[in-house]
Amino acid sequence: MTGIYVFSEDPRLAAELATTAAALADEVHVVCLGADASRTLTATGATSVVVLEAAGAPRPEAYVAALAGLMRDRGADLLLVGATVTGWEVGARVAALLDSALVSEASVITALPDGAWQAERVMYAGGAVQTETWSGPGVVTVAPGRAVAAAVPGSASPVEVVAVDVDTRVRVVSRTARVRSGVDLASAARVVCVGMGLAEPGDLALAGDLADALDAEVACTRPVAEDRGLLPTERYIGISGAHVHPDLYVGLGVSGQVQHTVGFRDAKVVVGINTNPAAPLFAVCDYAVVGDAHEIVPLLAAAVRARH
Ligand SMILES: Cc1cc2nc3c(=O)[nH]c(=O)nc-3n(C[C@H](O)[C@H](O)[C@H](O)COP(=O)(O)OP(=O)(O)OC[C@H]3O[C@@H](n4cnc5c(N)ncnc54)[C@H](O)[C@@H]3O)c2cc1C
Repeated sequence: MTGIYVFSEDPRLAAELATTAAALADEVHVVCLGADASRTLTATGATSVVVLEAAGAPRPEAYVAALAGLMRDRGADLLLVGATVTGWEVGARVAALLDSALVSEASVITALPDGAWQAERVMYAGGAVQTETWSGPGVVTVAPGRAVAAAVPGSASPVEVVAVDVDTRVRVVSRTARVRSGVDLASAARVVCVGMGLAEPGDLALAGDLADALDAEVACTRPVAEDRGLLPTERYIGISGAHVHPDLYVGLGVSGQVQHTVGFRDAKVVVGINTNPAAPLFAVCDYAVVGDAHEIVPLLAAAVRARH
């Protein structure tokens, strides 16, 4: 065993990864970007801190070859990468360059007696745990918060600087902040969710009217935001979208796939309106209405207003 390398562009996450790696191998090498990061990381007690020295704010493609080269030349067993947007890209690119195994979002990593590795990862929004084993070098991404970074008192790991030959063919010429709609679905007490069964442009007014009557926020499923572009992406609920905890969730023309329903599993009361009596949403509903949302939604809005 020649040791585990860890990398994150975020020094706090790199320190967490160093703690995880220290429980698995005697040698831990922390790879970071820039001298500032290395100053905090020498306190982790790592065998060494390797600084990838690349001018400016380098993009992953500028330094992944250097990282893969370190792994290859030094016969590293494993690379742990912090699971951030940058880390996902770095992990995938390094694994491709090394032609090695890649495990994403590992929750438990184990060194097996025969020199192979095993990792557990949660799948299907917490519905299953997958166990993967591999031999030879591998790349594993690890989410923030999996370990508490432990500083080693009096520790000052040796620092090695590796100059990176930055490919300048692609340059960042400007950055524009993403405009967000400002909606806070996570704290909404009531949510009216638009699905593809109610996703023609004119249909939004129906959902908006019901939301007005209920004093609710309008949300949607992912295809309504990403494929149809009818609502901003901040408004879609699910595994890759917002997680909501409302007192009331009303799904209009929502089929109820698990990638969506996991986003509102803490809702107190769930109502579904769907033409298909076998829609999976009905399995998680307190009130299931089988019928056309175009007909039922105006009736429901009027009934709610009549009770005010
Ligand atoms: C990796 C991955 C991540 C994903 N993440 C998310 C996520 O975070 N959030 C998310 O929402 N999705 C996510 N998805 C997509 C998800 O799997 C579903 O495809 C999506 O949720 C379906 O959206 P829908 O219910 O609006 O559309 P559909 O599945 O097309 O359902 C439309 C429903 O409307 C009903 N209907 C049709 N006409 C009417 C009518 N007139 N009145 C009433 N009902 C009607 C139909 O019977 C049907 O049940 C993800 C998928 C993958 C693979």
